[in-house]
Amino acid sequence: MPGSSTKRSRRPRPQDRGPRDPRSPAGTNGRTRFIVDAMLGSLARKLRAFGFDAIYYKAGNDAGLLNAALREGRIILTADRSLAAWAKAKGVRTMVLIGDSDGERLDSLAQGATAAGVMLVRGDPLCSLCGAELRAVEKNEILGEIPKSVSRRHRLFFRCESCGQIYWRGSHWKRLMSLARRLNQKGHVIVLGRRKSRSKAREADARVAC
Ligand SMILES: [Zn+2]
Repeated sequence: MPGSSTKRSRRPRPQDRGPRDPRSPAGTNGRTRFIVDAMLGSLARKLRAFGFDAIYYKAGNDAGLLNAALREGRIILTADRSLAAWAKAKGVRTMVLIGDSDGERLDSLAQGATAAGVMLVRGDPLCSLCGAELRAVEKNEILGEIPKSVSRRHRLFFRCESCGQIYWRGSHWKRLMSLARRLNQKGHVIVLGRRKSRSKAREADARVAC
């Protein structure tokens, strides 16, 4: 995967941890919480990279998905209209995403949020693999873990605090940032900490890499 290196450790992933506060759709630090059904794995990774709290529900049945959404106060994202109708009948906030690409599905998410009056809140980019927080690391801390060509070309590096994945502004970065901007422009999206300084904002943007 461009812009990232091999994982270093196997600590428990956030989605394996216990139930969170079910009263609020906002996750850690106010982020909007999603649970993404099994057909949309690459979308879940992008949502994490954009700074949303997104679980990828790749194993289990529809009832398990619905129960997890209820327990953790998450919005279900799916392309399955019958699943969505069933979940909505059970009182679970659900959005049906249409489109053949993640870009189209993100447009669909933005339009759905606008139509429903739902404010989407994203924070600093999270690990696209596991959804945990990223922290800045010095290049000399990770020299043995990244290709030499990458260490020559890049200055900012970040490590996932849970799985150890390392990120930099790889070849995906511009495309992801373009998608993130499109989501911001088309939907009701606010970004946590928007008032931070421009240099801080650039640093946060740099972490969008998966
Ligand atoms: Zn991770």
